Amino acid sequence: MSRLIIRKVAVLGAGVMGAQIAAHCANADVPVILFDLPAREGPANGIVDKAVAGMKKLDPAPFAAKDRAQYVEAANYGSDLARLGECDLVIEAIAEKMEWKLDLYAKVAPHLKPGAVFASNTSGLSINALSAGMPAGARNRFCGIHFFNPPRYMPLVELIPTAETDPGMLDALEAWLTTCLGKSIVRAKDTPNFVANRVGVFSILAVLHHTQRLGLAFDEVDLLTGPRIGRPKSATFRTGDVVGLDTLAHVVGTMQATLPNDPWHAHFSTPAWLQALIAKGALGQKTRCGIYRKQ
Ligand code: NAD
Repeated sequence: MSRLIIRKVAVLGAGVMGAQIAAHCANADVPVILFDLPAREGPANGIVDKAVAGMKKLDPAPFAAKDRAQYVEAANYGSDLARLGECDLVIEAIAEKMEWKLDLYAKVAPHLKPGAVFASNTSGLSINALSAGMPAGARNRFCGIHFFNPPRYMPLVELIPTAETDPGMLDALEAWLTTCLGKSIVRAKDTPNFVANRVGVFSILAVLHHTQRLGLAFDEVDLLTGPRIGRPKSATFRTGDVVGLDTLAHVVGTMQATLPNDPWHAHFSTPAWLQALIAKGALGQKTRCGIYRKQ
């Protein structure tokens, strides 16, 4: 198996996942360029600060404090696309919308380093459909790379190839994720929401709907689906706020749109109360208000 030599990573999207994936790569001693829309990039947005703050928790960090900023640099799609040519691995982590991802692929593809690996952190959109947005010659280096939130602490990464993905590249990527980032890989087929979210989101939805139907309190249900059964971090509603309520709704939307004949299809819907929170911009931790902290 040939080795993947990754000297620099580009992460596209500096949101909940992108900033944390960047921080995790930097902690593993791999420099990162963290791209976002021009409007979001820059000191005011604190993108790099956010990623760097995430790095501080590891002690000892593999580099001195003064070097941290060199490990995560901010860039935007407006003026910095040529810098993609420095990167051996590009991880796309923008919002869970097929058309936005495809638009971005068309914009970035001409600037990729020849032979670079390009992987999407989508929660469950079709990897084949995303791959079709890449130039034909780059599709053998394309796959899904699904990290879990928070990516530093969650060992699981689902790797999702297409029929065009080079198996040798996939093996090498798996080896890099395992040895360099400390991840445990599960290879998944390109089915809606892959494995973990197909099951996980379904169970979250069941709790959301039953809580409403039975008139239960969020914190009560969180105790019973979290700490009291030994899952301190995974209580249902808190998880929704951590994931981002808009992202959760997009993932539910994927199941709704792509699994019309599933016997549980009627349950694949975002409850109205949750849609109302999203409509007013209460998206969870990333907007500092969501299910728990109301506007
Ligand atoms: P987020 O909402 O926190 O961030 C989305 C990012 O996309 C932002 O940086 C935003 O500026 C950028 N963006 C939005 N519209 C864009 C456009 N048209 N073009 C380019 N950039 C655009 O989202 P997130 O939670 O970080 O999710 C990112 C990806 O990771 C999604 O595909 C999501 O499904 C997946 N994911 C999320 C989680 C989670 O727990 N949040 C876990 C695993 C995978």
